[in-house]
Amino acid sequence: MGQGRGWEGAVLRLLRAKDFVLTVLEAEDVTPHYRRLRVRDGGLLAATGVHPTMWVRLWFSADGRPHQRAYTLVDPDPAAGTFALEFALHEGVASGWARAARPGDTVEATVQGTGFRHPAPAPSHLVAIGDPASLPAINSLLDALGPAPATVWFEGDPAGLPSRAEPDRHEIRAVPREDAGARLLERVRTELPAVLAGTPHPYVWIACDTATTRALASYVRTDLGVPKQRVHALGYWRAD
Ligand SMILES: Cc1cc2nc3c(=O)[nH]c(=O)nc-3n(C[C@H](O)[C@H](O)[C@H](O)COP(=O)(O)OP(=O)(O)OC[C@H]3O[C@@H](n4cnc5c(N)ncnc54)[C@H](O)[C@@H]3O)c2cc1C
Repeated sequence: MGQGRGWEGAVLRLLRAKDFVLTVLEAEDVTPHYRRLRVRDGGLLAATGVHPTMWVRLWFSADGRPHQRAYTLVDPDPAAGTFALEFALHEGVASGWARAARPGDTVEATVQGTGFRHPAPAPSHLVAIGDPASLPAINSLLDALGPAPATVWFEGDPAGLPSRAEPDRHEIRAVPREDAGARLLERVRTELPAVLAGTPHPYVWIACDTATTRALASYVRTDLGVPKQRVHALGYWRAD
């Protein structure tokens, strides 16, 4: 989600947000709609540390002003000072920059607002609901939450995308994006109660477009009664 750098930039500076310059080392078209850039971190990881689902605010210029967009760190390596960024491509300033990015290109990054609290008790079952924009975060969750079985409802076509799911314990259920997320909501409403039945400590992680995320979070908390602290929901992009 983006905002200009005006008041938001000023607030971030007051909060002593950390700014870094990332340099593209390598670019790879994973699919025609998903591009991975490996970057040198400009000292970011050493200064901030690393946590699951960690994200940064990247700054892009368009229409003569800065635009901020959030992206997730993939395989951060503090010793090497590198990580990757994975872009689900569509129309937009961030997508446009990523499509054209070549080794040597740079982008500014601010670290502010990211965080992660390991759910305690550890999840007996992880439920993740997302799409290509939140796939990097879902992958890092699957890595971080160890042996727990997981069910992932994935809005979109997962073919060719870099899923970290392990088939023996992680199940991916793909749902086409239709009716602005209504199809996903319906599938989750139909299927989630059976997945949650009998699991003592579920953890539900939701990151889709903002409206769908809100509807899913409300269903899980209110209709299914999953305790608030066991549900993490954050809208990752705003649909028109
Ligand atoms: C914490 C966090 C972490 C994120 N991590 C990632 C990540 O690792 N990889 C990633 O690809 N995205 C990630 N996102 C989502 C990304 O920030 C947004 O998709 C962002 O809007 C993209 O900016 P843009 O300039 O390309 O498009 P914008 O200028 O914001 O939007 C242009 C048009 O594209 C549409 N649009 C925007 N995003 C999407 C989308 N994802 N799918 C379909 N249509 C879209 C908008 O509705 C609009 O019509 C993350 C978001 C958050 C909040």
